[in-house]
Amino acid sequence: MIRFDIATLFPEMCEAVLGESIIGRARKKGLLEIRCHNIRDYSPDPKHHRVDDSPYGGGKGMVMQPEPIWQCYLDVVRQSGSKPHVIYLSPQGKTLTQQKALELREIPHLFLLCGHYEGVDERVLEKIVDEEISIGDYVLTGGELGAMVLVDSVARLCPGVLPSEECYENESHMNGLLEYPQYTRPEEWEGMRVPEVLLSGHHANIERWRMEQSVERTMKKRPDLLK
Ligand code: SAM
Repeated sequence: MIRFDIATLFPEMCEAVLGESIIGRARKKGLLEIRCHNIRDYSPDPKHHRVDDSPYGGGKGMVMQPEPIWQCYLDVVRQSGSKPHVIYLSPQGKTLTQQKALELREIPHLFLLCGHYEGVDERVLEKIVDEEISIGDYVLTGGELGAMVLVDSVARLCPGVLPSEECYENESHMNGLLEYPQYTRPEEWEGMRVPEVLLSGHHANIERWRMEQSVERTMKKRPDLLK
């Protein structure tokens, strides 16, 4: 079973999202473990639980201090008895892809560090981080949304989380193509009919049609994927 530890200043934000729907149910069934840790709980400042300070060298904004993050990490190592693979969610990281999600699901224990403000003191990143991952070339206020995107994309690929592997095997980005169009009841809606081949019951023809549609829409919507 895969375990995710999320180090954040906003654990409730992560819990609210990762407690719902498919991921929430998978957690309840014990198919994956997700623990959200409040970095403030590890502040050496017992009164104000301070975790940030102004940047050396000047400049606007605040920087997250290394010690609370380091203590949070050490606590997770102590609790779990092993060193997790540490990912810092960062706009400077490599962009998350389906291929990366497939690689990450093979790692039994992931520690996700969410930055905030202007970012995190570089020294703790040097000390604990194995890789930086971005969810796109734009800047967010914090790493929480990135951590949730990462957990969702990895967790749904873990055994038992979706009803079967078929649910994701033919999806967009799994084989370099986008998925074919999907239809459900009714057969006719607003004068638009479901393609006849899907009603034919002829599995080989349906397969061929879906493959053609996949190639066609990839060429149209994301020609870069075909290269
Ligand atoms: N000053 C930093 C820079 O220019 O590289 C950006 C800091 S950003 C305002 C605050 C935090 O949000 C980061 O520490 C990171 O954890 C998170 N974050 C921002 N953009 C992200 C992205 N595209 N992907 C993942 N995390 C991101």
